[in-house]
Amino acid sequence: MSSNNTKLSGFVKSFMKWHLEQRPVVDISKCTGCAECKPACSSGAIEFFAFIPQVDLPPKTGEPRFRPEIEYRKCNRCYRCQELCPRNAIKTYKPRMMKILRR
Ligand code: SF4
Ligand code: SF4
Repeated sequence: MSSNNTKLSGFVKSFMKWHLEQRPVVDISKCTGCAECKPACSSGAIEFFAFIPQVDLPPKTGEPRFRPEIEYRKCNRCYRCQELCPRNAIKTYKPRMMKILRR
């Protein structure tokens, strides 16, 4: 029974965090994959994955490059990655429910 309560409270916490807290998001159309954000993150929340870009940024479209992904369970919303990104590619996303409740 207490294990079910723990699971439920974990679910409620992560639901609230996702819908009521702002979070950093990467604007992939601006990101060059320079990886300067990775060491800035003391929580180890940023990982890099190879992908083929659909936008015309160096390296040219069609060549693989790397993009960061943020693991939100680890992210403490310190926004150091945003401060240090030389391309201004990390934005602050405010969930719709958060905006509605704060009107
Ligand atoms: S520092 Fe900015 S441009 Fe560089 S990989 Fe991170 S998000 Fe992309
Ligand atoms: S906001 Fe802070 S914890 Fe989250 S990904 Fe950026 S640097 Fe890491």
